[in-house]
Amino acid sequence: MRMTGRPGRTAGTGRGTAQASAGDLLELVRSGRATTRGALQQATGLSRATVGQRLDRLFRAGWLREGAGGPVGSPLGGRPSITLEFDDAHAVVLAADLDTRHARAAVLSLTGEILAEHGGTLVIEDGPEAVLGELGRWFADLLRKAGHGAEEVCGIGVAVPGPVDSETGRVVQPPIMPGWDGYDIRGRLARSLTEHTGAPGVPVLVDNDANLMAYGEQRTGHPDCSAFVLVKVSTGIGAGVVVDGTVYRGVDGGAGDIGHIRVPEGVDALCRCGSYGCLAAVASGGAVARRLAESGVPAASGSDVRDLLAAGHPEATGLAREAGRRVGDVLATVVTLLNPGVLMIAGDLAGTSFVTGVRELLYERALPRSTARLEVVTSRLGERAGLVGAGALVVEHLYAPQRVEERLRAMGV
Ligand SMILES: [Zn+2]
Repeated sequence: MRMTGRPGRTAGTGRGTAQASAGDLLELVRSGRATTRGALQQATGLSRATVGQRLDRLFRAGWLREGAGGPVGSPLGGRPSITLEFDDAHAVVLAADLDTRHARAAVLSLTGEILAEHGGTLVIEDGPEAVLGELGRWFADLLRKAGHGAEEVCGIGVAVPGPVDSETGRVVQPPIMPGWDGYDIRGRLARSLTEHTGAPGVPVLVDNDANLMAYGEQRTGHPDCSAFVLVKVSTGIGAGVVVDGTVYRGVDGGAGDIGHIRVPEGVDALCRCGSYGCLAAVASGGAVARRLAESGVPAASGSDVRDLLAAGHPEATGLAREAGRRVGDVLATVVTLLNPGVLMIAGDLAGTSFVTGVRELLYERALPRSTARLEVVTSRLGERAGLVGAGALVVEHLYAPQRVEERLRAMGV
């Protein structure tokens, strides 16, 4: 699984091409927009000598290598030049995707390849101390399995099922994460990794699960889509929005929390957030499980519903379609507001019956103008989407041009 470059951003242009830094050059190489010395000169307007000096710093840091592909013709028409590539062997990333009762964790390469992976029971209601302590143990095991030392870890990305203030990495009034409000996830997880591996603390980035799933799916499967929306329907309901290759979070991380929009059918339905009438109270995997349990079908969570849908259970199928119609009604507004090119349905309920329900109401209620070029699709990465997005978030953070400068200076390169 390889990451493709983020579209729409050009290093150099917009901040004066003559100032392109080593970080800008690395970004051009990583995104594939310029992969030879000649192409870098052309993209930045820097002299051959200056490009050479800046590349030397990246070679000394071990972040860049000459490609295995061998010499290619220079776009400047001179002698053949060697291709350059991001050297992803110098570090690894840890990622975790926490759901309400289940979690996944992985070691990833810097280019997004999953090197070792584990999924298991981890109950969010047990609180952050217990969950993040256990996660540190999982990470230590996974590093051993992948054959990497903890000192190779450059950062950790975590997806959580609640709204996150990305400035602080803390969840803000999360409806389904009791005990986590304002908790220092970054500090605890960095400490937990140190406790289990002895390695020094590393940067930890935290974001909402739907945001990171959207980021992972957009980058790997729809890199040219400039307005991408993913809706996750599992025990709860949330949406992630990626605009021009960047996650759109709103002013304090609340964007996309569509599960708590009030819907008319829900007046009597109590939501886990404490309010009545939320979309999630009538159309989430949790809500479908409750309806099934009331009629004697054993189901307690979104993943139970997923298993029933996979087995073709008729009542579950009917309820999933009905839930899809309710979500589709809300998505008609989302699509009208954002005019996305891709609307992806992901999570436990994302099967044929639910998506059919979504389409029925979406196309009925949204303006034809806003759906004319809309693709409604299901998840490509499946349960790995959050891990891939979390890994990419860490890499994009650590190798952003400005941070590359800081890090190179700190390394004395
Ligand atoms: Zn609610």
